[in-house]
Amino acid sequence: MPTEELKQDAARYLMQTYTRQPLSIVRGRGTKVYDLEGREYLDFVGGIAVNILGHGHPELVQAIQRQAAQLIHTSNLYYTEPQVKLAQMLVDHSFADKVFFCNSGAEANEAAIKLARHYSHDKYGAGRFEIVTMKNSFHGRTMATLTATGQEKVQKGYEPLLPGFSYVAFNNLEELKRAVTDKTAAIMLEPIQGEGGVYVADREYLKQVRDLCVKKDVLLIFDEIQTGMGRTGTLFAYEQLGVQPDIMTLAKGLGGGVPIGACLATDSVAKAFTPGSHASTFGGNPLACAASLAVCRVLLEGQVLDHARRMGEYLAKGLSDCKGRHRVVREVRGLGLLQGIELDMDGKAVVSECLARGILINATGEHVLRFVPPLIITQLDIDRLLDTLAQIFSKQAA
Ligand SMILES: *Cc1c(COP(=O)(O)O)cnc(C)c1O
Repeated sequence: MPTEELKQDAARYLMQTYTRQPLSIVRGRGTKVYDLEGREYLDFVGGIAVNILGHGHPELVQAIQRQAAQLIHTSNLYYTEPQVKLAQMLVDHSFADKVFFCNSGAEANEAAIKLARHYSHDKYGAGRFEIVTMKNSFHGRTMATLTATGQEKVQKGYEPLLPGFSYVAFNNLEELKRAVTDKTAAIMLEPIQGEGGVYVADREYLKQVRDLCVKKDVLLIFDEIQTGMGRTGTLFAYEQLGVQPDIMTLAKGLGGGVPIGACLATDSVAKAFTPGSHASTFGGNPLACAASLAVCRVLLEGQVLDHARRMGEYLAKGLSDCKGRHRVVREVRGLGLLQGIELDMDGKAVVSECLARGILINATGEHVLRFVPPLIITQLDIDRLLDTLAQIFSKQAA
């Protein structure tokens, strides 16, 4: 179907929740996607930090095909091997002892919020249920997770919000200390704020937050939905930031494009969930788990993490050179292959210019460009992005 016709039908049949680029993608291969006319686009969005192995990775495709032919879904009334194996894989490579599977980031954070509340309730009784989150954070779009999200634009019109959330400035320890009371059950944050504009947590701050949590017996929840699965150059961002959480959530890259989310926790915290206290019909289904297992294997057994770390450094270096040469670039922020640049101009205009030149990038907020390519991105791909940005920014200065 021609793009124009598809656009019209989308307007007629879909709820209008998205602003989309004028592009209909039909196929993908590696770091490239293709439109109807066969036009090629270099993909620096990667399905918003999801397609970590790029498009059509043979091991992922094969795992999905095999599992689809064998068994797609059974519910959690029965045991399935892919779910248990994936849990083991995640436990073996993280601080966590136990995993709960669901289908998205928001659901993973719902599970984390429910787990923290239940843990606190079991230990301290009713009334100690508050969760402190960060201003400018993003945790999802369900009622609990949009309440956890410290951005009014996400919450507006959905009041009343869930009780028991408060918000403090990111990287501000004094504000956080003041917000933690005897009613606080948990502190929840992203090690790097992704949707909020790519802001990295200070190591020293995180260490102090961890100490505060220990002192007050408050749980520390890391939302690694965007930063996890190799995005920052290590499997999880907390490994580089020197602090372990009590609960961690994953989604986005976890299935390499197949929807799956996970909430991980230490044994002592995970005990708060007992049969019947939380559930999901689809969560951890064999198809999604087999896909995710394939992704984890490629990530851990191949050289992908090393490659991602090197490419992250290369991209960061290229972007800071770009900042040195172009006045419109105000700041470069990020870790690994989660990089952002703050601009003196409208980010959306740059997204459109890149699209016209065959490169997909993403703007988050009005002035920040975010780069979250597949982890298999190459130096050549990055050079092309940097050249294209340089062309666009030079025109701007004139
Ligand atoms: C994308 C994202 C979410 C929400 O994930 P969905 O799968 O869209 O529900 C939550 N937290 C962070 C940090 C994210 O980047």
